[in-house]
Amino acid sequence: MGTRTTQRLDQHLDQAVAAGQAVVLTGNTGDLFVADDGQPRRLPTHLALYGRRRGRATVTYSAGSGARQIPLPGSGPLPLHLPGPDEPPAQAVPALLSEVQSSTTPIQVELDWAGLGLPDQGTGVSTDQNLAIEAIGKFVVNPANRANGHWLAIVERSGTIDRRIAQLPGFHHVHVELPDQAERSALIDRMTAPSTGPALRLDSAVTVDQFAALTGGLTLDEITQARYHPGPVGYAWVQGHKASALSRRCGDTLTVYPSGAGLADVAGLPQIRRIIHEARTTGRQPRRLMLAGPPGVGKTLVVRAIADELGIPAVALGTVRSPWVGESERNLRTALDLCQAMAPVAIHIDEIDQAVGRRQTGQSADGGTSERMLADLMTFLGTNHDVPITVIATTNRPDLLDSAMFDRFTIVPVLHPTPDEAAEILTITARQQHHALDTKAATDLVTRYGALLTGRLLVDILDRAISFAGRGAHIEAEQLKEAFDDLLVGVDPLEHEYLALQAIMLTTFRSHLPWEAAKVLGQRPHIPGYLRPLMNLDGSLDMSKVRARVAQLRDHNAS
Ligand code: ADP
Repeated sequence: MGTRTTQRLDQHLDQAVAAGQAVVLTGNTGDLFVADDGQPRRLPTHLALYGRRRGRATVTYSAGSGARQIPLPGSGPLPLHLPGPDEPPAQAVPALLSEVQSSTTPIQVELDWAGLGLPDQGTGVSTDQNLAIEAIGKFVVNPANRANGHWLAIVERSGTIDRRIAQLPGFHHVHVELPDQAERSALIDRMTAPSTGPALRLDSAVTVDQFAALTGGLTLDEITQARYHPGPVGYAWVQGHKASALSRRCGDTLTVYPSGAGLADVAGLPQIRRIIHEARTTGRQPRRLMLAGPPGVGKTLVVRAIADELGIPAVALGTVRSPWVGESERNLRTALDLCQAMAPVAIHIDEIDQAVGRRQTGQSADGGTSERMLADLMTFLGTNHDVPITVIATTNRPDLLDSAMFDRFTIVPVLHPTPDEAAEILTITARQQHHALDTKAATDLVTRYGALLTGRLLVDILDRAISFAGRGAHIEAEQLKEAFDDLLVGVDPLEHEYLALQAIMLTTFRSHLPWEAAKVLGQRPHIPGYLRPLMNLDGSLDMSKVRARVAQLRDHNAS
């Protein structure tokens, strides 16, 4: 069993208490927390029990309901004069804190921000609010309070708290994470045989542990909804709830890919097959891959196939950019948190060169947003070694990437299909559309076509052939030829050669070059035509020739 979210929360609280600091709790604060006794509780109750174990009575305060005491077991309420629900929060909070301060019994104060009425208003904050914040600041740094065992916890709900509180000295900030798999498992197990209310009924095809794995990214609260579903719940229920929960939590920032057939629907790409094979034989999930190559050659398809082969869900990191100051960073943070909760998971960062920007763009372009997002992503990639997250980035332009990326990712080239692969792409795509195709004829046509092709272009060519075939389920060689002949514009050969060479030049391991990987897998290696003049006699690449050709193409493509 991994570290439970609730235990981690308690560890953070312990650290704060040991350092004599108050806490501000943010993140998943509205959820249920499952303590060691297996009982799910809300955060205020969890905190009160935490204080109780350390000999502290609790006073909770929220604007809607005023202050309330939770005495220690076996003792009555303390003789405190506490503010009622009618008193304005800006007056109630200072009054409450001064009352606690005069007590000799250790007390922990929980300020529930939901109804506290001290929102982040920027300028134009009332004098009363200033006074309340001042009172909180003084309470926290007062050594007498520490000596008496008093302690303060502020719980942030939705929205943000007055930022001056976040800046006060003496606070420990605790980000409450989404529940991890062990935590979800414990709750789900309990829900299948609850002491009251309807029991959770799982689909006969899923076990408790599988259901717990599927529900990664949901709060415990959201998972409890499954109890009220009229029928047994399984994969479909989770997919439906997850999509809406993710979009509620972080907009378009994360989308879940539907699962597919894995490599069965992917033609060729021996380097990718090799990576999967190695993952299987070593039992180690690849962690950081960057697929580099021209557009349309199947990079996105490969991301999904890898996740399917590894048996983990795949999500795409989408629109993180927002016109609102600070929101892009917040979206990214929320999305990365979610990914952590969904682990094991594969995260696809498409067009990583554009998605997070580059350091060398400087501050001018977007007020430093790119720099901060890149820094956040790097921190995430650098610190989460123990979390089973596979990050697969894709890019057409590896040459534009920040050099820091090269240290974090294994760069794997995905290049144009070889003639055999191209014919297979046509065959696979035809099959998916319930058409049959003569693969031999397809290979002949592709070989005769001669120029560079991409998977995307082949899909278009096949669509054309299907329209020529009319209602027939079989696509004849003639119709396929007609479709090839109909093609006026293919890929720009020099631009595509340039992009392919960039990917080859930045490839981390020689064995990931497709023709090298093919040899290992016992397949006939195919060297792309544009590489032949750039090779040594022994069949290795002459890197100085490659660089010279890249420079030549750069000048050509720029003009
Ligand atoms: P990229 O992400 O590199 O721009 P995509 O993954 O979007 O390219 O590929 C476009 C389409 O081309 C895919 O959806 C798929 O239909 C087809 N395709 C590309 N490569 C392959 C392949 N190796 N096997 C099967 N289909 C492929």
